[in-house]
Amino acid sequence: MKTLKRKKPRKHPNKIEDRTDDYNIDQFEDLTYLDLIEIENAATGIIYYGYMDDMNNLIYRECSKCEQLKHISCFRPHSEGAHGYRSNCRECNREIDKLGNLRYQMKKKNLPHTLTELDFAKMQLEQKGKCYLNDSTEIHLEHFIPISWGHGGTTYKNCYYMDAALNTSKSNRNPFEWILTQPEHIQKRFYNVLVPTLAARNNMTTNAFEDYVNRCYLDFISKTA
Ligand SMILES: [Zn+2]
Repeated sequence: MKTLKRKKPRKHPNKIEDRTDDYNIDQFEDLTYLDLIEIENAATGIIYYGYMDDMNNLIYRECSKCEQLKHISCFRPHSEGAHGYRSNCRECNREIDKLGNLRYQMKKKNLPHTLTELDFAKMQLEQKGKCYLNDSTEIHLEHFIPISWGHGGTTYKNCYYMDAALNTSKSNRNPFEWILTQPEHIQKRFYNVLVPTLAARNNMTTNAFEDYVNRCYLDFISKTA
């Protein structure tokens, strides 16, 4: 009797245990039946890994941004992309779109947009992935001086990661007025951690920094009044 020869199981080059994405976990059994392939990113020349079935359909691939192995349904179809898909997963694309939108807003307001990938990584590291004010890990990029004031900008001097709910609550209010509406432990962190951090990035004392922010605010309300 002829038995079907099983393809030799291959270990994925990255550690499977490290992966947390919903799509990977239960599916790894199936990978032994798939072909491991290399996908070169035309722009960077970096090689990513993918898995194909017997019909030459790409089933999994590594995202070229977050580098997680994800099911192909996590990638948008793209006629010019490798095997008909974008190289960044949908989630990463959303991040890229958000940044593009920010860049557009900055341009419209004639504000600097200088945050680099390195700055984002640096901020994540400095904050240990947590909000300065309440240790939340559900964090969004926040502009201390709001974009709508027409001051500040998307720069390392003006940006940090903030708890999503606090970010919504602060909105475009003057941070020094908004903080008075917050509980005492948040106020403490604001004055002991956040303000000194941003003042230092601006080469200012905390008092000078507060003055500067208040002057930007007065300028903003004088223009909108
Ligand atoms: Zn991704």
